[in-house]
Amino acid sequence: MRLSKMYIRTLREVPADAEIPSHIWLLRAGMIRKLVSGVYGFMPLGFRSVRKIEDIIRKEMDERGGQEIHMSALQPAELWQESGRWYAYGPEMWRLKDRNEREFCLGPTHEEIFTDIVRNEVSSYRQLPLNLYQIQTKYRDEKRPRFGLMRSREFVMKDAYSFDRDWEGLDNSYRGMYDAYEKIFTRCGLVYRAVEADSGAIGGSASHEFTALSDVGESEIAYCDACDMAATTERAVCIDDAPNVEAELPMETVVTPGTKTIEDVANFLQVDQKKTIKALLFKVFGETEDAFEYVAAFIRGDRELNMTKLINALDIPEHAIEFASENDMAEATGCVGGFTGPTGLHDCKIIVDSELVDQKNLVAGACEVDHHIINVNYGRDYKGDIVTDLKRMKAGDKCPVCGLPVKLARGIEVGQVFKLGTKYSKSMGAYYKDENMEDQLIIMGCYGIGVTRTLAAIVEQHHDDNGIIWPMSVAPYHAIVTLVNTEDEVQVALAETIYQELRKAGVEAVIDDRKERPGVKFKDADILGIPIRITVGKKAAEGIVEYKLRKDASFSEISGQEAAATAIAYVASELSK
Ligand code: ATP
Ligand code: MG
Repeated sequence: MRLSKMYIRTLREVPADAEIPSHIWLLRAGMIRKLVSGVYGFMPLGFRSVRKIEDIIRKEMDERGGQEIHMSALQPAELWQESGRWYAYGPEMWRLKDRNEREFCLGPTHEEIFTDIVRNEVSSYRQLPLNLYQIQTKYRDEKRPRFGLMRSREFVMKDAYSFDRDWEGLDNSYRGMYDAYEKIFTRCGLVYRAVEADSGAIGGSASHEFTALSDVGESEIAYCDACDMAATTERAVCIDDAPNVEAELPMETVVTPGTKTIEDVANFLQVDQKKTIKALLFKVFGETEDAFEYVAAFIRGDRELNMTKLINALDIPEHAIEFASENDMAEATGCVGGFTGPTGLHDCKIIVDSELVDQKNLVAGACEVDHHIINVNYGRDYKGDIVTDLKRMKAGDKCPVCGLPVKLARGIEVGQVFKLGTKYSKSMGAYYKDENMEDQLIIMGCYGIGVTRTLAAIVEQHHDDNGIIWPMSVAPYHAIVTLVNTEDEVQVALAETIYQELRKAGVEAVIDDRKERPGVKFKDADILGIPIRITVGKKAAEGIVEYKLRKDASFSEISGQEAAATAIAYVASELSK
């Protein structure tokens, strides 16, 4: 391809709303363009890289028996009503009506659609196991679309669904997909970790997230160097502190003026924050707006609440809960802003972190302005409707497997795999007939990869101050031949020869034959991040060119022929990895 003919415009300035490197560089390299918030289009170079990621995915999926199909993005509401997710999915689902008022959505995911296809067409055990996948555009009206392709409202996902006769079959399918994901992300050049994950709105029993390590990532993972524990902090089980052996003392109300935070009250009473109880208040909605209940969650003062664990304990969809205004709640439940404790509440569901059960003589709000109660003890003074682990794991907390301190890291969730079990086959009636002609529920798994998010994650891990540094496997082109002076016939001839030679050998090459200053060409080559650059300049008269890898600072001066041969060999060796 000739850059002089290519539809491309690189940007000199950092675009206004781009905050993170992948967003900045994909825009500056002219690979993507924004239409509206969270909606992007792919320009020629960007689309080439997307297709390369897709091809890597296809190859690994096909190798494990996956069969590619393509279902519609437009989905009828009825299927989602059958599974119960028409309500559960909430405002993230893009809903619309046809001219006859029939309801549809633009698919945020496709469990219902694949289950429907299979229930209608699979009847016998002989047709199982089955793995169907697609690479398709998904729609999610995200609350906070941001960071370009990272969290967009329209994005490309690979979603696969496995259908098995039994749980053992599912284990096999799951392992196969897990292996495929390891291969895929490695081939995409990502440094990642597979960690245990919460299954969220998708449901099911077990799940792993594949997290590309990056400080700008929105996922937080906890891991242990001493054993192989690794989980998202949403999911990570926290170990309760050792039980406290003090004798229970009598409760006593004390005056604590203006101490609305845990820090204030701990300082005022001169106690460790571990000796206090923190209250968090919520409003939880039912399926209709006016049906709701109040929920108060209590954790030890030094801990943080894990919203995912709270949502799971309450068994509600993510969108059905919000922080409560203490003023609104006060009359109904007796809570008092900044001074709420578990002892004075009524008409409110109380959910208590398991750690509080065996801690003694704690300080809690008295449900009275400027007052706290000391020596509050679980069981004697208050009880929870639910008692469970509600804690968010922090760095240094005990590993739930081996007890040593855990570490935390940030990352980008590029893929997730789920053991769905019978969640969808049961609600939607997907059966097969076994050898005895008896109906059995199909056991399902589902497996997603954010294709366009993966593109962004790759740029996050592969860039410098001058632009992108593509891994060969996903680079839009393998090599760029930079022709310094388009007026110099010797330079033109040598550059063209090298360019043709590369192409003949199957190397995807571009030639920068634009009538631009050399500085502009070098800058653009750096921004675009094409792995190999061969520069044909003044020394062309002696047959000499500059050979440089984008990832290296140095270059070598070699003959044009040698440069082409080196590039061909390098591309082959990188692609065979
Ligand atoms: P997140 O927690 O980031 O919202 P999710 O867990 O809801 O993602 P899944 O339902 O597991 O996402 O979707 C499969 C994959 O699709 C994710 O692993 C991610 O790579 C990608 N993905 C999900 N939401 C988006 C989005 N808004 N923009 C781009 N990619 C996305
Ligand atoms: Mg996920």
